[in-house]
Amino acid sequence: MNIGWTPRASSPHPGTAAGPAPVGGGFAPSGLSIRQRLVLIVLMAAIPMVLLSVDIVWRLAERERDNNTQAILYAAHSVLSAVEAQLGNYAAVGQALGESPALQSDDLAAFRGEAERAMIGLPGAWVTLVAPDGQQVMNTLLAPGDPLPRAPESVMSGARLAFAEKRVVITDVVKGPVAGGPVVGAGVPVLRDGRPAYYLVIGVLADTFRELLNTRQMPQGWIAAIIDRDGNFVARSLDHERWVGRPASPGWRAIMHVDGMAEVISVEGRPLITATSRSSLGWAVGVATEKAGFEAPIRRTMLTAALLTSAVALMSMLLAGFAARRITGPIAALEAGVVRLERGEPPDVRTTGVPEVDHALFALDTAARTIAARERSLRENESRITAILDVLPVGVALVDRDGRIIVGNGNYRRFVPQVVPSRDEMRQELWEGWDANGRRIPPEAFPSARALRGDPVWPGVELFFRGDDTQPATWTRVAALPFRGESGEISGAVQMIVDIDQERRAEEERRTLQAELLHLSRVSDMGQMAAALAHELNQPLTAVAVYIGGCQKLVGAGALDEARLDKLGELLRSTSEQALRAGEIIRQLREFVRKGENELRVVSAAGLMRESCTLALAAARHKDVVVRLDVDAPGEILVNKVQIQQVVFNLVRNAVEAMETSERKELAIRLVTGRDRMELSIADTGSGLAPEIADRLFMPFVSTKTQGMGIGLSVCRNIIEAHHGRISAEPNPGGGTVFKFWLPLLREE
Ligand code: ADP
Repeated sequence: MNIGWTPRASSPHPGTAAGPAPVGGGFAPSGLSIRQRLVLIVLMAAIPMVLLSVDIVWRLAERERDNNTQAILYAAHSVLSAVEAQLGNYAAVGQALGESPALQSDDLAAFRGEAERAMIGLPGAWVTLVAPDGQQVMNTLLAPGDPLPRAPESVMSGARLAFAEKRVVITDVVKGPVAGGPVVGAGVPVLRDGRPAYYLVIGVLADTFRELLNTRQMPQGWIAAIIDRDGNFVARSLDHERWVGRPASPGWRAIMHVDGMAEVISVEGRPLITATSRSSLGWAVGVATEKAGFEAPIRRTMLTAALLTSAVALMSMLLAGFAARRITGPIAALEAGVVRLERGEPPDVRTTGVPEVDHALFALDTAARTIAARERSLRENESRITAILDVLPVGVALVDRDGRIIVGNGNYRRFVPQVVPSRDEMRQELWEGWDANGRRIPPEAFPSARALRGDPVWPGVELFFRGDDTQPATWTRVAALPFRGESGEISGAVQMIVDIDQERRAEEERRTLQAELLHLSRVSDMGQMAAALAHELNQPLTAVAVYIGGCQKLVGAGALDEARLDKLGELLRSTSEQALRAGEIIRQLREFVRKGENELRVVSAAGLMRESCTLALAAARHKDVVVRLDVDAPGEILVNKVQIQQVVFNLVRNAVEAMETSERKELAIRLVTGRDRMELSIADTGSGLAPEIADRLFMPFVSTKTQGMGIGLSVCRNIIEAHHGRISAEPNPGGGTVFKFWLPLLREE
């Protein structure tokens, strides 16, 4: 990092703030989907519903089973009641006839009349009168006088029972010899004086009972049967003709004794449900139906209910799926809208038919439009600011808290282009920071870094840009100012780069010109110095001439003895000394006039002042000036020797010139050194400063002299200030002027 440029982040384009990471990258939605939730809700509602309906159906089936049982039992009971009522009638009429006086008095003709009249109320029935020996004595089925048959054994066994128990018996089904078919009836014992007189039978064809079964409208598949005490069929609702008077199958016989519900297996091997009703007369009525048929309605109900329930459940699931699609579809539209918004496009609002989603989409659209409008105005503002920044002849950039460049104008990018980090690193090599002492500046000392630490760098530091293939090497001035957020803490910095190469070149030119001027002023001083130097050189040269003359005399005076040789050596030594002195004067002169001497050197302040004064005083020597030189103070200075010599020369020359017409000509030159500076004062007893120029003394071309150019003092000030010192003038208390200048001393370290 050299100028606050941090290459670690992907460099945002100038003027484009880095946006938030787009939603969706790495986003893993969790939980149940809407469809799953809806199906779950439906299931949660449907399961109790199904259970409830199963329960209801179960109860319904139970009830239906009960109903069916009730119905079949009722059928058996009602048939039995009818049979009993019928038989009861026969028994009652039989008993009444048995007590007839005509019968008791054996008037059979009269009795026959009574019996025929009684039979009018019992259609299909007839009266047979049997003598105890089994011979029929009367039969209303036959005409009077017709031969009468004997009663069969089956009738007589009934008669015996009736006489023995002295009660009416219901006969089992027999084949009647007169009626010619299966016959049943009620047998009445007729007693006289306690002994059997007649056996009176009210007979009726078994078919009469079949009518009882058929008048009852029983459901299809039900078979009703009347079975007598012996287990023979009296009547059957199905196949009556075939079965009447014949023994019932074992199944029927089995249920005769049950009185209630039973389950049996039919002759064909099919399971049957039966209801039996038993009469105290010994007969039984049974109703049977196939178990499958009996339970079919229940099964049908159950099946229908199951089908209905599953259909409802299925429908609900489908409905949930459909509803989910109706919801997920619009939500997908909403999502798509958001994605488009992220991409900076309008969300494409279309009504989805779901008001909530439509509201959201509409709000999204409004938001998108607002954002777009704001973005547009932001961009406009930005381009305005960029335009302003770009016309500045200065590179300006905004640096964030981490040292990253947020925005920079064209001139800034000349030095710090927005390129990929790897290239930035390379680019940073091009920057070299140097301070005034020629030392490199560490990265943390760069202006932006300093500004971010709250240390404004203004008007900036000079840094050298080494240049690359697009931008030539140049000197720059880099300044940076911190800026603060609302909370007052530093939130970034503004960094400025100015190309100061031209400025520096101008400065250089100015310096060259100045040096030229200095040289010129020195050359112009040469004229005045010539006489002084001639005098100065004259002395050693005269001395050399005198010494050489002495030498000649010694050599010409004859043989050289020890004493003369010594004298000769001394003369030659003095000659050489004077010649060296003359050479030194010329060397100093040459050095003074030489051009372009520019380097800084560490010299002793006393040494340099003494040397400078020697040269300057050479010019003053013949002017009767009394000089007091006091320059033996310690300390070293970093200076351009020739320039300081020139300053001293100018000040001494001015002082001497100012005293030209003075009576008292005293020049006091004094060097004082303190802790960190040295001060040289040059006090004269001359005319003093002319009031009209006193305040413009150090300006160029200010002179009171007819021959004066007025540049001496301005040159002095330039030189002293370039050495970080100051020059000033003040009146000398005893008359005349004191010129003073100070320069910084080099410290021990
Ligand atoms: P010049 O000597 O060519 O005039 P300078 O810049 O050296 O140019 O001096 C400017 C003016 O300052 C002089 O003309 C003179 O009036 C005044 N001046 C300089 N030194 C002294 C001095 N020691 N005493 C009085 N006046 C001085």
